[in-house]
Amino acid sequence: MRTVLLAAVAAAMLVAVPVGADAAPLGRQVVPLGRQVLPPNDGWAAEGAGTTGGSAAPVDSVYTVDTRTELAAALAAPSPKIVYVRGRIDGNTDDAGNPLGCADYVADGYSLDAYLAAYDPAVWGRETRPSGPLESARAASAANQAKRIRLKVGSGTTVVGLGGAVLSGLNLQVDKADNVIIRDLTLVDAADCFPQWDPTDGSTGNWNSAYDNISVTGSTHVWVDHNTFTDGANPDSAQPRYFDRPYQVHDGELDITNASNFATVSWNRFTDHDKTMLIGSTNNPANDRGKLNVTVHHNLFRGTLQRMPRVRFGQVHVYDNLYEVPASMSYVLGVGVESAIVAESNVFALDGADPGEVLFDWGGTAVTARDNLLRTGHRTEPVDLVAAYNATHDPDFGTDAGWTPTLHTGITPARQVPRLVSRHAGARRTR
Ligand code: CA
Ligand code: CA
Repeated sequence: MRTVLLAAVAAAMLVAVPVGADAAPLGRQVVPLGRQVLPPNDGWAAEGAGTTGGSAAPVDSVYTVDTRTELAAALAAPSPKIVYVRGRIDGNTDDAGNPLGCADYVADGYSLDAYLAAYDPAVWGRETRPSGPLESARAASAANQAKRIRLKVGSGTTVVGLGGAVLSGLNLQVDKADNVIIRDLTLVDAADCFPQWDPTDGSTGNWNSAYDNISVTGSTHVWVDHNTFTDGANPDSAQPRYFDRPYQVHDGELDITNASNFATVSWNRFTDHDKTMLIGSTNNPANDRGKLNVTVHHNLFRGTLQRMPRVRFGQVHVYDNLYEVPASMSYVLGVGVESAIVAESNVFALDGADPGEVLFDWGGTAVTARDNLLRTGHRTEPVDLVAAYNATHDPDFGTDAGWTPTLHTGITPARQVPRLVSRHAGARRTR
């Protein structure tokens, strides 16, 4: 069985060749990136047996890929495995590597013009979600795109970028998996060709898109480290408005949902994006209560507008992050239903936004916040996030989220965070 699988994989991987276990992808690394594991105690992903990904893969389960087809084949291979990504891979390509545009995915006569005409609130109303032939055509078109750009990452897998590797227009979905490591990748513009209008989302309705750059769904022991996330040349801010709402073609940069648990999100750059990091996607406790425990440390958030992260249910430790957000941001930390955020030693450069808007009440009750700094120009001063929020909002948040983080490798004093994080967070900056 194993031989058959490997043969099938080898056949599918046109130029992919395994690299030896001892091949060092970066010059000074003693242990190659693919062989590295999450350090002990490094956040929630270190719980229990910790997170080792595919680090123990045999030599013939180490792949180097530089096309979508090779990447898909390597991700479908038996675990444990290490997948090194080289160069730039675009999800919107056919099996031969030819580029695909949105028109190539269209099914059953979908067009945006027809969709806009059919579901204009003046025609369709605002009471129910779109349904009927055009919504079905949109969904069928979206399914065609999903087949190309959504690639599942299974248990016992390490995915690592080699010197500047880029995944463009791809949604990596860590789905129902345990023990996954994703490092040193630049993830660009996972745009949805077929956003869905939902007039019942909020008071105004919203356009919603399906793809995150990385989605972690129903998975445990996941380490996402030293990646760079960006919308590239396709920022949300450049999208048109339809029905007086932004035509949103992106979802999250990194969303962790569906009863996922034990994730560490460290040393990444989250840039130029609206809905950045969602932890928990519904208010229904049946699946998520007691899970969604995530550590978010030493990340740079730059030019991001909300969800850094937005949390439901989880015990989420947010420490040593640098926030450089525009005055137009919505909020930084979303305090959702039964969330337990401990925010410490973060630095907030708010471009003039009110520090009382760092927190947002999505149905939560308390936040533990300590040792955070507000940076204005070259000046930094302590900021009490909860007091600042409570001064201008009701009901107030309590100041005790009810737990004490123990899984961390030491909190860097906030004063050192800007220099440390701006130097070392993001792809190609593993030390
Ligand atoms: Ca999402
Ligand atoms: Ca108040």
